Amino acid sequence: MKPPRIIENSPLARIARIVLQSRSVAMVLGNSIHLSGTTRDEFLQDPYWVAHEMCHIRQFREHGPAKFLWKYLVESARVGYFNNRFEAEARLAGRLDAHLYAGNKPLPDPEHMHKGARG
Ligand SMILES: [Zn+2]
Repeated sequence: MKPPRIIENSPLARIARIVLQSRSVAMVLGNSIHLSGTTRDEFLQDPYWVAHEMCHIRQFREHGPAKFLWKYLVESARVGYFNNRFEAEARLAGRLDAHLYAGNKPLPDPEHMHKGARG
């Protein structure tokens, strides 16, 4: 399986950032993580954030890109962004899987992470 690609200064993530009125956004499309308002290094230094977006990468693989986007949009329209089950699953993954992305460093306090919006 190919590792995800990280795209900095993504115009698509920038649109999401404006819509969400957020300082920084990471947004998964297929096998790519689109960033705006943050850098690759800043993103990779937040293991909770990486674990969250890696869950969206898995969701894209499980459902297939077109089906997943459709289900995600329907779910968001129905219950909103926060209660969207794909976001709930990614938030849980952020907590459970963060240790996988922390390298050898101790995990940072999650209260001080997650400053940006999670796409
Ligand atoms: Zn998310």
